[in-house]
Amino acid sequence: MTILRKTKIVATLGPASNSEEVLNRMAEAGVDLVRLNFSHGTAQDHVAAANLVREIAARHRRPIGVLCDLQGPKIRIGKFEGGKIELAVRDKFILDAECALGNRERVGLDYKTLPQEVEPGAVLLLDDGRIVMTVESVKGSEIHCVVNVGGVLSNNKGINRQGGGLAAEALTDKDKEDIKTAVALDADYVAISFPRSGADVEYARKLVREAGGHAGIIAKVERAEAIVALEEIIDASEAIMVARGDLGVEVGDAAVPGLQKRMIRMARARNKLVITATQMMESMITNPIPTRAEVSDVANAVLDGTDAVMLSAESAAGKYPVEAILAMDRVCREAEKDYDSQHLKPKGNKDFHRIDESIAMAAVHVAQHLKVKAIASLTESGTAVMWLSRANTLVPIYALAGKKETRRKLTLFRGVYPYPFEQSTDDRDQILQDAEDELRMRGAFKDGDLILLTIGEPVGVSGGTNTLKIVKVGEHRKS
Ligand code: PGA
Ligand code: MN
Repeated sequence: MTILRKTKIVATLGPASNSEEVLNRMAEAGVDLVRLNFSHGTAQDHVAAANLVREIAARHRRPIGVLCDLQGPKIRIGKFEGGKIELAVRDKFILDAECALGNRERVGLDYKTLPQEVEPGAVLLLDDGRIVMTVESVKGSEIHCVVNVGGVLSNNKGINRQGGGLAAEALTDKDKEDIKTAVALDADYVAISFPRSGADVEYARKLVREAGGHAGIIAKVERAEAIVALEEIIDASEAIMVARGDLGVEVGDAAVPGLQKRMIRMARARNKLVITATQMMESMITNPIPTRAEVSDVANAVLDGTDAVMLSAESAAGKYPVEAILAMDRVCREAEKDYDSQHLKPKGNKDFHRIDESIAMAAVHVAQHLKVKAIASLTESGTAVMWLSRANTLVPIYALAGKKETRRKLTLFRGVYPYPFEQSTDDRDQILQDAEDELRMRGAFKDGDLILLTIGEPVGVSGGTNTLKIVKVGEHRKS
């Protein structure tokens, strides 16, 4: 039997991958979730992509999650007469909220209040930090700057301010419209860009629920303010994303690796999920194999304990979308061996506060001391599975879920493998027997193996897991 990969792979769709043929190969290569990037494309494009993903997932007989990533208040410059200009060190340049079409001297801004929010001495980073300028003075709608790092500046590039501190609302009018599209295509997760606080995340969830959606909310941590508010942001979210692109621009690239470790540790400790994103296999946009540094980067995210690693341009616009997934797959599997050998301790001596948590901890404890093949968890909402997944266990966690929404959400959980399961009776023992049979038939284990089963009683109530059963497979089957 092939060893299952625990860490999940998220791949962004784009022109390089948004076709039946490539998506099919991505599914074969093991993609777990796809990310629809709402910074590009129309609502119809996203709906069509989500439909295609689900069709292909059905063909492969496993769920693939759909993550809709909202654009957020990315502050951008306007357009230039010639599409782009070139700036050299010590050049003067004006960001002008009232400029319609830019030139060598000035360019417009889509965020009209920027001149009121910066002061002389502020450092502005354009195009993900490729161009840097310092504010010398502000005159009405004009921000007068001097260039510190020059280069080519082209239409609509993003602006960040070093250290953060811009007031832009986390959810723009476009984001609010896009939430409706995300709900219409039945998104499993909605990621919000540049949240500043737990309240921003709660607000997004409220809009998703009002539109009738069940998606989990992912907070992209990519603003200096979000680092200060990390605990409340994590608590308000189902998952966080270590959004290293914008984060590195705001806090400085050197701070990102340490923050990544802290964010993953905090998310896991607070029973939340975490995705590590951006530039993981960047050179694979043009090369069929990753660099050693990229391999180390993916491996280190796995060793940090991330639930998922993410591809952005590599799968959206690169030449090797499938190879990038295969490379991640290979690196994750190898790193997991190392992680498992280091992390086989249950979570400290802390007290448990919930029954389902206690059952999960008991299961993980038994799995560590008794040679079991698997943990199988019957779950409504996935709550019990979250507890299992936050602990560290060598054995696979099979989640048997009746609801397809639950199965698709579980695609993001490290070490968890969702399967469909219909309860045909209210008799607990019969249900457990059916669960065992289902997984055995799928090749998860065989007769004679020891497995752990968790279930809630009464059956079918979410968050109600209260029973752990240790079973020798096949022992009680009536033949
Ligand atoms: P983006 O977010 O790709 O939507 O900008 C991720 C990041 O900033 O790292
Ligand atoms: Mn970003």
